[in-house]
Amino acid sequence: MKIYISADIEGVTGVTHWDEADRLKPDYAEFREQMTAEVVAACEGAMQVGATEIWIKDAHASGRNLIASRLPKQTRLIRGWSGHPFSMVQELDDSFTALLMIGYHSRAGSNANPLAHTNSGKIARVSINGREASELQIHAYAAAFVGVPLVFVSGDEGICEEAGQLIPGIGSLAVKRGIGNACINLHPHLALEKISAGVQRALQEDVSRCNLTLPGKFTAEIKYKEHAIARKASFFPGAVLKGSHAVLFESQDYFEVLRLFSFVL
Ligand SMILES: [Zn+2]
Repeated sequence: MKIYISADIEGVTGVTHWDEADRLKPDYAEFREQMTAEVVAACEGAMQVGATEIWIKDAHASGRNLIASRLPKQTRLIRGWSGHPFSMVQELDDSFTALLMIGYHSRAGSNANPLAHTNSGKIARVSINGREASELQIHAYAAAFVGVPLVFVSGDEGICEEAGQLIPGIGSLAVKRGIGNACINLHPHLALEKISAGVQRALQEDVSRCNLTLPGKFTAEIKYKEHAIARKASFFPGAVLKGSHAVLFESQDYFEVLRLFSFVL
């Protein structure tokens, strides 16, 4: 069984402030360790139930956060960014049985994580077919595009709830609850045990329960915090300015939506 793990940091246990997600700040070291430990816990859970090969995308900021030597030898680690529109699930294809997301976080416009955002700090909101979209949804759809189900997520309570609405069969572990600029967290070691157990359960069941059917047509709307960025984005082929701060884009091909996102999010 070949598994793909996409790992971010803003939904890792304890992470509460941007300094803790910034490799240039002293606070970062502790949370890089926890991010790595949570990915290792997911790998261990997956290997317990038959994973023989695990690809991991380090999907936060520089893409250079995970401590590679701590990962099991059955893993391949993707560091940095290729520029491919699959972004946080780069190299995912139909050879994988399932996708897991670790350290994922609530979307831009949500109040469920002090660090809630979608892709970058310039975005106020992203929606797909009228539904506000997180990085989880954007990449769960990318996975569905190549026929791979998202079966497990760990992160803040808000993203776990959203995942359950999008994919009713998904396994999830909320490691923290965001309130204003605070987070109420599980103990970091307990989070590891629960991630490992949750991944085992998610992969033991029939993963096809998590298959997503993509809509036949996509309307993406991106609202920016600054009007000038919306104007610039409106020059992407097919995009149109909506009001002062937003652009609209329509396509029947989700890859074209991902192409847009890779240039304007
Ligand atoms: Zn991140």
